[in-house]
Amino acid sequence: MSKIARRKFIQLSAVAAAGYLAQSGREAWADDLPHLTADDPMAMAMKYTDDASSVDPASRANPAADQNCSGCALVLGNDGDAWRPCQIFPGKSVAAKGWCSVWAPKP
Ligand code: SF4
Repeated sequence: MSKIARRKFIQLSAVAAAGYLAQSGREAWADDLPHLTADDPMAMAMKYTDDASSVDPASRANPAADQNCSGCALVLGNDGDAWRPCQIFPGKSVAAKGWCSVWAPKP
């Protein structure tokens, strides 16, 4: 790599790092985030769906009937928003009416 290319690479890396830090320094807003889809590999691993009513309550580890993302201890963001950040899926937003196998009751 030439000195100029290396210098440009370092400059771009610094800009990218600054952008990352600026982003992570504020509350992630669901409006800024792409929606998690059920065909995402991580979503598939966690059995995520954007419609909790489609999941048989008997198939859940904790078979409470009213589980959804808005009632999960791991959801972030604002009550009432249709899509919210989630601690399990950084960089994506999950449906308030969604569900995944990591669901945990709020304390
Ligand atoms: Fe929804 Fe909770 Fe799973 Fe996140 S961890 S997708 S909020 S059920």
